[in-house]
Amino acid sequence: MSAPPSGLPPYDDTNIFARILRGEIPSKRVHEDEYAVAFHDINPQAPVHVLVIPRGRYVSLADFSATASDPEIAGFWRMVGRVARELGLEERGYRALTNMGPEGGQEVPHFHVHLFGGRRLGRMVPGAERQVGPGAERQMGAGAER
Ligand code: 5GP
Repeated sequence: MSAPPSGLPPYDDTNIFARILRGEIPSKRVHEDEYAVAFHDINPQAPVHVLVIPRGRYVSLADFSATASDPEIAGFWRMVGRVARELGLEERGYRALTNMGPEGGQEVPHFHVHLFGGRRLGRMVPGAERQVGPGAERQMGAGAER
């Protein structure tokens, strides 16, 4: 496969999620189908912390959104919603998050969405209330949630 349109390196077939997909490393799977696999994160950051990954070889959201087929994209996101629903997260709410690239904090170079739930998750980005930059005025403005 050629380099993904993401600034990240080409897909690395030895990454940990590729090995999980091939069954070389065990995982606690929640659901799987032809498009995606959902499994519990090994180092959970919330009472529920599940990862959803596409079966296809995509490095990041940049890569997936630009090069995956429509059925792959639909199948993947339907799995994200289905897993959240079936884990009982919809009533109280949850967070779906993806890290992309160095500033996004992505560690594993196979596209994945984190699903967090089971507790109040707090601000979306740590330290956001102290952020200086575009949007800071709005955050600090009179209507801002404290
Ligand atoms: P990232 O920082 O790339 O967005 O997230 C990578 C996630 O993968 C982390 O939350 C980390 O705990 C999880 N992870 C890393 N290695 C393994 C593993 O071998 N098994 C599972 N289930 N999760 C892993």
